[in-house]
Amino acid sequence: MTPYTLEQLSNPNAQQEADMFELVGVLVHSGTAETGHYYSYIRLPYENSQGKDFTKWAEFNDTEVTEFDPNRIAEQCFGGLWEDIESRLRYPKPNSAYMLFYRRVTSTDAQAATIGASPTRALVSMPAAPSLAATIQEENHALIRRYCLYDPVHAHFTKSFTGMLKHFDSGVCSTDHQSEKEILQMSLRYVVFVAARVKGAADVEALLQLVHKTTSVCSECTLFVLQWLTNVDQANLTSDMLLGCPVAKARQAWAELIASMMSDLRRMDPESYGIDSMNFSPTDRAVPGDGVLFDVVNTLQSSVRYLGRSLRVWDEYFELFAVIASLGLPEVKTLLSNGIFRDCLELICHDNANVSLLGLRNQETRATLKKTKRPPSYVMLTRFLYQMMLHLDLFGQPARSIHEQFAYFDTDTNKYPILADERQVVMTRLNGRLSFFCKLVEAVNQSEWSVQPWWPGELIKLIVRNALPNPAFIHDLGSTLAADINEYYPDAAGLPIQAGLAFCQACPAAGDADAIFRAITHSAQQLPEYVTIRRNSMGTVKEPDYLGGECHLDFFQQLSTLQEVACSSVDDNGVPPYLASVIVHFSHCAPPILIYDNYSTRQKVCLFLDRLIFDEYPHEVDENDDISMRLTQLRCEAVRILMKTCNHWAVQAQAKGCPKPWAEHIEKVMHECAKWINKLMSEESEAYAVFMEPGDEALLDIFDRAKFSFGHWREEDDWNFGEGKPTRTKRYSLVDLS
Ligand SMILES: [Zn+2]
Repeated sequence: MTPYTLEQLSNPNAQQEADMFELVGVLVHSGTAETGHYYSYIRLPYENSQGKDFTKWAEFNDTEVTEFDPNRIAEQCFGGLWEDIESRLRYPKPNSAYMLFYRRVTSTDAQAATIGASPTRALVSMPAAPSLAATIQEENHALIRRYCLYDPVHAHFTKSFTGMLKHFDSGVCSTDHQSEKEILQMSLRYVVFVAARVKGAADVEALLQLVHKTTSVCSECTLFVLQWLTNVDQANLTSDMLLGCPVAKARQAWAELIASMMSDLRRMDPESYGIDSMNFSPTDRAVPGDGVLFDVVNTLQSSVRYLGRSLRVWDEYFELFAVIASLGLPEVKTLLSNGIFRDCLELICHDNANVSLLGLRNQETRATLKKTKRPPSYVMLTRFLYQMMLHLDLFGQPARSIHEQFAYFDTDTNKYPILADERQVVMTRLNGRLSFFCKLVEAVNQSEWSVQPWWPGELIKLIVRNALPNPAFIHDLGSTLAADINEYYPDAAGLPIQAGLAFCQACPAAGDADAIFRAITHSAQQLPEYVTIRRNSMGTVKEPDYLGGECHLDFFQQLSTLQEVACSSVDDNGVPPYLASVIVHFSHCAPPILIYDNYSTRQKVCLFLDRLIFDEYPHEVDENDDISMRLTQLRCEAVRILMKTCNHWAVQAQAKGCPKPWAEHIEKVMHECAKWINKLMSEESEAYAVFMEPGDEALLDIFDRAKFSFGHWREEDDWNFGEGKPTRTKRYSLVDLS
């Protein structure tokens, strides 16, 4: 360091004594810029019989301390590339030094000389500087405090103490409520400041349930807790818990406590709650502004603008809003007056061109949503919108102001008109689609597609039912959802297909649902392509855990058993709604799924085809029964489609080098089709000659030729995954006659 010291720089010609430093520690970071782990290599002050020996090093890695050979410092701390000898591949090392620690040798050596010269050679203790001593003392105190706070005995004490409240005076609260209030406060403080910060937070749920149990019989205790939670001085307690607590279970328990206490107080003390007849009327132009309901909603609303900082917690947060909205009209009115519905629209349509119409209260959150790669889950936000939409009229005359919204409350339908700008945002088109609804379909977790109730689907059903007088909108929504289905990879299309299902379940006009049927069939037909891509890139065939095919199948299964649709029930011939569409469309959709590389999906498709078509062979078709005749005719049509499309996809499968076992199901279905046609043509069933068509015999020829090919299917994979692009080494032998 000598050339850089003040002394040397101010007098460059003078001879300065060398100022030496030596490496005593390395702090290493392993991982990426976003995530990783820190550990240290530290040189040990080791004293041997010859004096000091500073050559020993140790690795300090969390609770593990192991000896470390300093010759490996370069390898472990310099970064660079790491070579895998076996595969001869080189990767950037994840670990490299983050911070280096040096010790000034010159001064310590001088000190060592002084200390070493002392006659006793005993350990020398030097008094710390007073400021340092105070800091050390403070830290020690804090450590002991933390130790006691997180001691399980503390948790046990708090829980027992809270539990005892019930046993004082045989469960009757004291007149002044002093001791009750103190104990309740103590429990809640313990939850917020201690229990919720511990990994797992096991005590939180039990303690909060106890608090609820204790207060649920007394309106004064309930009121006290709710007021305490929304007290201006500590209002961020609640948002700290809901937005900041890292433990999902603790957040949930906190939200549940608020929701259940509100519902208790609403029943026991409507005046303090703010909804007694003096305070509340749905048609009152005035904005509600009094009572616990208003305070809670206000407290919760004030932290909406920080939601961008905690994208993980959205589900718990909005579930609480949804539960509050489900309590009744006063709650809906209060939430409307606080603009939370508006906030939610802003969050869900954050990249919508019209979003600025909403006044933009959540700039920060929208900025986060714009750049995040891991968007939050909108599922419970959608549940909240659903609860609100139960009392909002999206299709009538919209309101121009919040006062007008309240004044035009419709007592027949129990609905408020929606605000004009909010309506405009919901109806915005982006690339020809109703973008609000595409956004609804997006959620973090694709695997949620089959979770019931799936709130985006429930909201779509509700809106479709409300839109009955507006067929143009229903048509638009149908094409939006259909286009959205084909926007997704077919093996990840579970959510948009689920949305399409919801639409069909509520859709009054089969014509609009047809677009969705076609989109799902088209999506299924892309599935085998993705199997090929996956096999090419991996070189080996693995059973996938993708949803491909399952969600397509689920759509048809759900609709085949649907008994009635909102306002239409049966088609002209008395066939249940959609059954005709399901039979015909599924015969186009099933064959590509039958060669999809998931055994259980193929199996399920076969079983469904049996139930839908083959098991229903008209042994006893009644010529006078229109439904039966119509269904038989539809099934004959389906069998013809199946025979041709199965043959087409079997050819594709062989061309793509599908292993033989994958084709077993498609072969089985063709076999069933042939059985059906044979039966139709046999003399004993001449009563059904009416269902026969001239081309039926040719279909049997297709089957005969296919049967030969199935028998000669190459057992082993005939893809060549050698150098360069994968190539096929064998030609297929099936002939595409479709
Ligand atoms: Zn009480």
